[in-house]
Amino acid sequence: MTTLQATSSRLQVLNCAACGAPHTAFTLQRVSECCAQPLLAHYALHEPLSREQGIDTAENSMWRYHAVLPLLDEANRVSLGEGWTPLLPLHRLGARYGLADLLLKDEGQNPTGSFKARGLSMAISKAKELGVTGCIIPTAGNAGVAMAAYCARAGLRAVVVMPRHTPKAFKEECYWYGADVHLVDGLINDCAARVRELNADGALLDVSTLKEPYRLEGKKTMGYELAEQLNWTLPDVLLYPAGGGTGLIGIWKAFQEMKAMGWLPATAQLPRMVAVQAATCCPLVETLAGHQANCHSYVGQPTIANGLAVPRPLGEPLMLQVLQESQGTAISITDEQMLEGMRELARLEGLFVAPEGAAVWMAARELLQTGWLQPNERMVLLNTGSAQKYLDNVEGRY
Ligand SMILES: *Cc1c(COP(=O)(O)O)cnc(C)c1O
Ligand SMILES: [Zn+2]
Repeated sequence: MTTLQATSSRLQVLNCAACGAPHTAFTLQRVSECCAQPLLAHYALHEPLSREQGIDTAENSMWRYHAVLPLLDEANRVSLGEGWTPLLPLHRLGARYGLADLLLKDEGQNPTGSFKARGLSMAISKAKELGVTGCIIPTAGNAGVAMAAYCARAGLRAVVVMPRHTPKAFKEECYWYGADVHLVDGLINDCAARVRELNADGALLDVSTLKEPYRLEGKKTMGYELAEQLNWTLPDVLLYPAGGGTGLIGIWKAFQEMKAMGWLPATAQLPRMVAVQAATCCPLVETLAGHQANCHSYVGQPTIANGLAVPRPLGEPLMLQVLQESQGTAISITDEQMLEGMRELARLEGLFVAPEGAAVWMAARELLQTGWLQPNERMVLLNTGSAQKYLDNVEGRY
């Protein structure tokens, strides 16, 4: 087993998300040994690290924050230029709905067309650093494409397991990157079962959402970027399309880290976080509403927002914690509503957003109607992907 030495990185230890038990950060880890729950990377942030020292402003990617990322040797960085995506004001859409301060962070501009690039750039860099030779992933689409691309760039073997009904463009791109692709009848949880069979000998690193500690660290850079792009202020509300939840959990983790380092004032008001799900697969909404104790036996159906078809997310407790701590909420949106949102963003703003991103906008509209959101609040919509790979789902519906 590869055991690494701590270098200039501030990475200190990995803690079990359920009980806090420490795990070494210098060997390959998956979920916690104690509770089989996600491991959260902890950094030594007590030694002063100013924003000036901590941000590599010459680097126009998520790696500008490498001082607070877990890679020990930057030679292991596997990058395609992910992150540092634009935060766009939506003037025409805002004007139509009387919104003074509506912004969209466009993650569709990432390599491979979604924010999965951030998580997988980080995870594959760490896999390379830890001597891994191949990776496997159950995916609703975008994570598999991103993993295949970063594995190609790192020279690692890639095995991708996705639902058979996934739009053709996701499968095709994986083949181009040289991945082995397995198709499964069902949703991502059924793909996870196939991954366990295919990787029974453990020869490949399973980079499923939150089953290794580092995709989360890549996703957290969205929180850092948001603060930097808003000149070290934060919005009142942040709306996020939640599947497995890495982005939601990661952004919240970034806010805590920035407070700990003094990059944000300790008293800074953090945004209310909104988890947006699909009406046909909304385990978090159901748990929050008290209709079930947890998602463990939730049954979901497909949606045109493939990334939201995650019926039993391992990170549910962490997502619920973020919603509670931020005084946020969870809401579900139908596929028809998503198409309406796609049309509005396309025609009024020139943005061809994934159905997941459109869901987030439609959630804002709903929450304005119920009075949960006020028109004068600063709101950020997180558009997680481009619609270009979803044509099988949305073709002709403009
Ligand atoms: C994966 C995905 C999501 C959900 O992200 P999680 O980190 O799993 O919550 C949302 N939108 C798109 C486009 C995705 O690919
Ligand atoms: Zn534990």
